[in-house]
Amino acid sequence: MKELVVISGKGGTGKTTVVASFASLAEKAVVADCDVDAADLHLILSPRILRRENFTGGAKARIKPGHCTACGKCEELCRFDAVYFDGPGNGKQPKTFRVDTVACEGCGVCFDYCAEKAIEFEPAVCGQWFVSATRFGPMVHARLGLAAENSGKLVTQLRRVAQQVASQEKRDLILCDGSPGIGCPVIASLSGASLALFVVEPTASGRHDFLRVARLTAQLGVPGVMAVNKADLNEEVTKSLEESASELGVAAIGRIPYDPAVTRAQIARKTVIEASDGPAAQAIRVLWTKTLECLDRRPSSAVGGLVPLAVRNF
Ligand code: SF4
Ligand code: SF4
Repeated sequence: MKELVVISGKGGTGKTTVVASFASLAEKAVVADCDVDAADLHLILSPRILRRENFTGGAKARIKPGHCTACGKCEELCRFDAVYFDGPGNGKQPKTFRVDTVACEGCGVCFDYCAEKAIEFEPAVCGQWFVSATRFGPMVHARLGLAAENSGKLVTQLRRVAQQVASQEKRDLILCDGSPGIGCPVIASLSGASLALFVVEPTASGRHDFLRVARLTAQLGVPGVMAVNKADLNEEVTKSLEESASELGVAAIGRIPYDPAVTRAQIARKTVIEASDGPAAQAIRVLWTKTLECLDRRPSSAVGGLVPLAVRNF
């Protein structure tokens, strides 16, 4: 099994457009939307959800009913201002304290200092993940709750599930839409992948963010190739990007020209491959062929050494 991670360094470079187009060109792939902080692949692929699970990450404090003596110690010590004196009364006090679960960081200080042992921890539900069907095959994706954290952990979970679905359905490629930036979800997307495809825009910020994520990818031991989107809008920066990529050992394997058909396809909730045979669609077809050639030269991925989930039918 191979795993291709399409990554960008910054948002808005056309990464998701490329992933959706690849999904329509792939014969036997599982698509995973690992851009969990700003997931939008579903807007084009229109998944039909087959399985839905809660994603829990970390824990939040909760004051047990009937145990609090309203001493105020937890409010005094909480550095996140997560404890309020407006909890329900009990047999001991007419009014007690409560924890605001949005503000609580789960640090555990209140638990350690409550003499009454009135505080407990419960797993925090941070979002949901899904296994879905699309017109191009299975898709694994997620919805993270507002202000929810642990997106790196969620990406790892999505990759595990995608690996399991690929194995069950005998699909030999996981096509992963990675996150922008270089933070936890990016590292979780890249670790152990077969190949990273950087989709870069020819701007100063695009160049800066590409260099950061390319160096990170090299540190993780993942080989990378690059394509410049809207390459014709700035030939000079495009050439400079390709030279910088070459210095980092990243082969430049594609140039996608600016094409209004891309936006028209997005509005119609289609891939550009489905909606057009124009210059962008043709360039993406060529890019897909070259990406497959690069993938063929890579050994099968252990998908980051992730432990497979227990076998389960979807
Ligand atoms: S420290 Fe314990 S007993 Fe005191 S207010 Fe907080 S929960 Fe109640
Ligand atoms: S666990 Fe930490 S952040 Fe949460 S209420 Fe207790 S002291 Fe505050």
